[in-house]
Amino acid sequence: MNYYIETFGCQMNYADSEKINMILLRSWLKKVNSFEQAQIVILNTCSVRKKWEDKVYSIVNSIKKYNTKKNTNILVGITGCMARKTGINQKFYTQIRKRNASKNIEFLEDKNSLFNSDDKIFGKTDKVDFVFRIEELGYITKILSILLNSDIWNDEKYNDYLKIKQLSENKAFANVVIQTGCDNFCSYCIVPFTRWREKSRDKDEIISEIKEVVKLGACEITLLWQNVNSYGKELKAKLWDEEEMKWALTPALSQRERENVPFRELLEEIDKIEWIDRIRFTSSNPHDMTADILEAHFELDKTCNYLHFALQSGDDGVLKNMNRKHTYTDFKKQVEYLRGKDPYFWISTDIIVGFPGETEAQFQNTVKAMKELEFDFAYIARYSERSGTTASKLLKDNVASSEKARRWHILNNILKETFQKRANLMIWKTEEVIISWISKNSNFYWRTRNFKEITMPIKNWVNIWDIVKVKINKVNGRIIEGEII
Ligand code: SF4
Repeated sequence: MNYYIETFGCQMNYADSEKINMILLRSWLKKVNSFEQAQIVILNTCSVRKKWEDKVYSIVNSIKKYNTKKNTNILVGITGCMARKTGINQKFYTQIRKRNASKNIEFLEDKNSLFNSDDKIFGKTDKVDFVFRIEELGYITKILSILLNSDIWNDEKYNDYLKIKQLSENKAFANVVIQTGCDNFCSYCIVPFTRWREKSRDKDEIISEIKEVVKLGACEITLLWQNVNSYGKELKAKLWDEEEMKWALTPALSQRERENVPFRELLEEIDKIEWIDRIRFTSSNPHDMTADILEAHFELDKTCNYLHFALQSGDDGVLKNMNRKHTYTDFKKQVEYLRGKDPYFWISTDIIVGFPGETEAQFQNTVKAMKELEFDFAYIARYSERSGTTASKLLKDNVASSEKARRWHILNNILKETFQKRANLMIWKTEEVIISWISKNSNFYWRTRNFKEITMPIKNWVNIWDIVKVKINKVNGRIIEGEII
């Protein structure tokens, strides 16, 4: 049986798709590269932008049209941020009851839990066959067993989302999920409603997974979740200020306290593992950033000079409406600290323009922030109302789409300039690059320690996965060019 998976959105979704691969490949299904070759299609979705949701429904329609035209019966399932509940399409009920399906779902805590079709997706289209919350992805083999009336092998250890490992297709790079859920409730975001409350993974399990992937060849480890700074807050509850949603050790830039937060302890343990070359983590939030995490970038051997953390707006009033818990001043201090220690420290961020009520003056504060902070990269989004979020219930989406587009273009132009300026700093520097890709124009291609993408001509004595020294000699628009030395 063949399956095809398509992933939308952020790095967490890509890591989740690697978990889905782990389960399905272990159950002897075969992964294929197009839906036409598959019997099962899984769309791992993102809700941040409306256009991605629209794209998902358009793929669903194309598959169903293909089914009619070719007389096939490809099953379509949706997971990720668009799915709130696990369930199957009503049309399967009768057949399933006839087959006494309960034998197939006996391991579920609530064995009726699959017999609902009340996820909103089923209300929008009857062309989706099943939906599952990503935290319940261990159910997937049971769902497929039911829908296909076939016994697809299931391992009970997959019942716990945090215990399911990722199956990376690129052996040098491993994503390791360290948490699930989010407690921050930013007003524009659906994650706390789809992923529920924040939960940290056991440290020993994380370390043992990392040791395993290192044995298989991984040299770059990326620790993933929405809010890595708060990792382990359940374990050190006394240090966690529940009201302020941050460590009692903050502010990040005050004198270092002796006690380290659990995430720093985790980084220190990973740093000791032999054969790892680079440790990255994403995402951090500015409000619960601590001094020991900022300093970890410089004090540990394998952490990299790169950080992604979301500013979202340069205006404190807009940040408040977004229910973000940092101010622009907090954020700026952290950027200045990192760049003060290392001028080549690469910083990327997320920005939303046209948030409900954002005035021209407030937008100009973001313009000022973008110019002051000179981001190396930014994901700039135009606000779009996402159903189920607090903003959609309480705030009117009152910035016209033409105005959002204008604001987006202004920020994008600033980003082009700051990218160019910051990339130019790298010219004539020699950087280490892990070779892991050959691009279409026969160049090698990958990233420096500070996450800059570099392209360089192939040398026949270099192999994939080698770590090479590259001299950077040109910035060509968004492309940085170098030469292996
Ligand atoms: S920190 Fe905010 S934006 Fe990020 S996942 Fe949590 S609620 Fe969403």
